Amino acid sequence: MANPRKKHTSARQAKRRTHWKIRLNTLATCSHCKKRRPPHRICPHCGYYKGKPVVVIKVKEKKKKGQK
Ligand SMILES: [Zn+2]
Repeated sequence: MANPRKKHTSARQAKRRTHWKIRLNTLATCSHCKKRRPPHRICPHCGYYKGKPVVVIKVKEKKKKGQK
């Protein structure tokens, strides 16, 4: 079986990993509420898609103080 001849140094490993980067999710602006939403998705804030209401967004009721 093919085997590596020499151990790769940590510098070589680090150079390879310089391209490992965290990328922010791309976001589009909702045409209805102007908030940021993922592209090609129903807006999670207002439930509109292509300027029309598609989904009714339920608003969570706030819990009373003292309850956890
Ligand atoms: Zn929206």
